[in-house]
Amino acid sequence: MKIAAQQHNAGPGTTHTTNSLLAHEHGGGAPGESKYYIAWQVRNSKTPNKIDADLGGHAKRWAASVFMTDIKADIVTTMNTHWTAKHAPLQPEHVSFRWAGNKLLDHDTATLRLGDFYTHYNTPSKVPLYLSDVPLAFKHLRKTKLPVLCFDMYIDYALVRDSILPRKRMRASSSAAVSQVQSVRPRRNLTGAALVSHFSLSTRAGPSEVHRQSAVVLKKVTCVADNTTGVCKLIDEDITVMGNVLATPFSSGAMKEAYDLITADGEQLVGKRFVRLTNDEDAGVNHIVSLEQNRVEVEGELFRLTQGKWFLDKFYNFCQARSHVGIDQNICFASAYLAQETGTFSVASGIDSFDSEGITWLVEQKRPTTVIKFTGTLNHRQRQKDMRGLTVQAFSHFVYGYSKQTLVFSDLQGSLAHVKGRDGLVLFDVMTHTIEGNSGVGDFGKAGIKSFVDQHVCNDVCLALALDKTMPLVTVPNGGESVTDEDTASPASSA
Ligand SMILES: [Zn+2]
Repeated sequence: MKIAAQQHNAGPGTTHTTNSLLAHEHGGGAPGESKYYIAWQVRNSKTPNKIDADLGGHAKRWAASVFMTDIKADIVTTMNTHWTAKHAPLQPEHVSFRWAGNKLLDHDTATLRLGDFYTHYNTPSKVPLYLSDVPLAFKHLRKTKLPVLCFDMYIDYALVRDSILPRKRMRASSSAAVSQVQSVRPRRNLTGAALVSHFSLSTRAGPSEVHRQSAVVLKKVTCVADNTTGVCKLIDEDITVMGNVLATPFSSGAMKEAYDLITADGEQLVGKRFVRLTNDEDAGVNHIVSLEQNRVEVEGELFRLTQGKWFLDKFYNFCQARSHVGIDQNICFASAYLAQETGTFSVASGIDSFDSEGITWLVEQKRPTTVIKFTGTLNHRQRQKDMRGLTVQAFSHFVYGYSKQTLVFSDLQGSLAHVKGRDGLVLFDVMTHTIEGNSGVGDFGKAGIKSFVDQHVCNDVCLALALDKTMPLVTVPNGGESVTDEDTASPASSA
């Protein structure tokens, strides 16, 4: 079922004060937005027929524009105040929303914004089943004029166990998220057709040439990957984007700051720029990232996202020919573009010299702020045991093989959001290790590739796809060897 997501922006030209930004961070949304009560108790997979009273319950008001994903993360934080007395902290992916009374959500509603979520269930046929079912503990909320949504936060113990035994059969899980995808049925003698890969690394010695056009507000530059080789190039489509960039970042990472960017069409976007070129918290505190350094890095990030999409398309094609293997189909890379300020400079750009060129932003869609990390910069061990996590790891292995051992992704992370109308995962802020070591900040070159080879352990999806046979983990110092197939494969080092 596809749910049309609506925009809940405050419109172009709205001035966001620091206070309204703070309110937004705390789930308040923009001034004047509709509010809803979210009330919850807890159930767990060990005793699913009763409420888990030990973990309490709570009710809180939320604004229409807040993503359900972020509301869940906030609830899990509250649950952890009791849970962590006996256990390691719960992660949001261990817990799923169920309507009060242990009723599953409709497919593809768990990652909507709250307002869209409410609209989906506020129909004559659904109200009696979902919205009218208010547990005794929350009946008093009906005296308020706000809509009340009551949930059982469902803890799936099969997902909670924090480490994964490599190569062990995946345990059946009662979680809704897992049950929606097919189970894996490894058929290890089936290796599929031999692969032909034409991948070659994009050459990037510095900022790529983009022709400057007329001075308007933001000049848009997109990136496309050659369908055959995966080589990326920047395209200036002579498109300008008018919009407002907020002066204060809504998120500051180790290396980047992210700012809300609302276009004249009302589209809610995010502009990112680099403020440091190392993720070492102690280094470079006073280092100022030059315009050119920022340009090189945002381009690098766009190249990585574009390459990621290219590899993911190839991966899904590869899996389509092996349709007996269950995978998570609803993963994508964030679509992004570059936008250079022309004319006047925004406060957010940090530029105050009129002699200067405008800053270049990496622009992406606004997404939930709750992030799932799958791998680190030099840590490629499996962290999640659900189908989503297994698929991401198998994709990593595929990239290593399909790039002819010249590239691996690191820092794979993403947010749960709508992907083509379905509950899915959007990957962003990824890094790569390449044989040339020049793909941008965080590229450890051959050492980075070696860290993947040393640490990756094939999971059930890898094995079902026979990646251990067709793309064995062998360091090839010079890269460039053709992809091995069933006939020429050397014994897998991981076997
Ligand atoms: Zn593998």
